[in-house]
Amino acid sequence: MLTVGVDLGGMNIQTLVLDGDDTTLGTARMRTPTQGDKTLVLDVVSAAVHEALGEAQHEIEEVTAVGIGTPGVVIDGTVGGASNVPDWYDRFGLADLARDLLGVPVRLANDVTAAAVGEHHSGAGRGTDHLLVIMVGTGVGAGLILNGQPYEGAVGGAGEFGHTVVVRDGAVCPCGRRGCVEAYAGRRAMAFAAERAVAAGRETVLFSIQDEFGHLRPTSTVFKAALDRGDELAADLIEEAIAALGVGIASAVNLLDVDAVVVGGGLADRLGDAFFIRLEAAMRPNLFLQPPHVRLERAQLGDFAGALGAALLARDATRR
Ligand SMILES: [Zn+2]
Repeated sequence: MLTVGVDLGGMNIQTLVLDGDDTTLGTARMRTPTQGDKTLVLDVVSAAVHEALGEAQHEIEEVTAVGIGTPGVVIDGTVGGASNVPDWYDRFGLADLARDLLGVPVRLANDVTAAAVGEHHSGAGRGTDHLLVIMVGTGVGAGLILNGQPYEGAVGGAGEFGHTVVVRDGAVCPCGRRGCVEAYAGRRAMAFAAERAVAAGRETVLFSIQDEFGHLRPTSTVFKAALDRGDELAADLIEEAIAALGVGIASAVNLLDVDAVVVGGGLADRLGDAFFIRLEAAMRPNLFLQPPHVRLERAQLGDFAGALGAALLARDATRR
């Protein structure tokens, strides 16, 4: 059975052609448009699907289903609330539009749910049926595998780990509420915090490094470089990010009793072992169950987790 998985990210659209459960026949990656409307984004999705199929030497007519992992909250084939993809914020029927364009049934999922399915299948979450996967990027998202199955909630809103509150009346989050994990650990929020600190008179090399690297905003690479150059503001912001993530993860583990928490995304990838050692230290004192059995793991599949998971979800949808 051939399925195609699409991971729609703020930066790239990653696609993968899957034969059965484990054999990847072709892949393609294209830049996500930064402007335009949903029609343009969908045209690039379609082009990426066809390019991956070309590499796999198959035709779209042979594909049983296409899975799309998308940012935002997915409800019944619709998506809304994603601000990183142009024209993707107001809720619309993505599954129907994509099906009409591709001529194949489409299964939608939140992008981090798809990544969780991928990591569970062949990444850091192998061997457990109780898994929390967290992606720390521009925002902070999560996907859940409970009892071996992806858990998307009553209507599709599960996994909004980034908007669990860790500080009552705390820092303003990009979602407009206060004290969310993302308000401290999302890169967009960290960039705003850095700008506010500079406006208040603090010194930092963050923005000169950003210019030096030709980046438009302080990316994870910029934060890592600033940290390496002894920048105190970058160190403080990263410390706050890790503290918020540690408390948030412990609370999620106390609620769900998962075996493993897999963490990936820009900051975690760039900072590597140092990040995980400190995250473990921030989480541990807040765990209720003693001795704790949860393990903290680095995500293993990178960008492929979402595309693989989306393909697997599409495969499962056709078997029901
Ligand atoms: Zn929030």
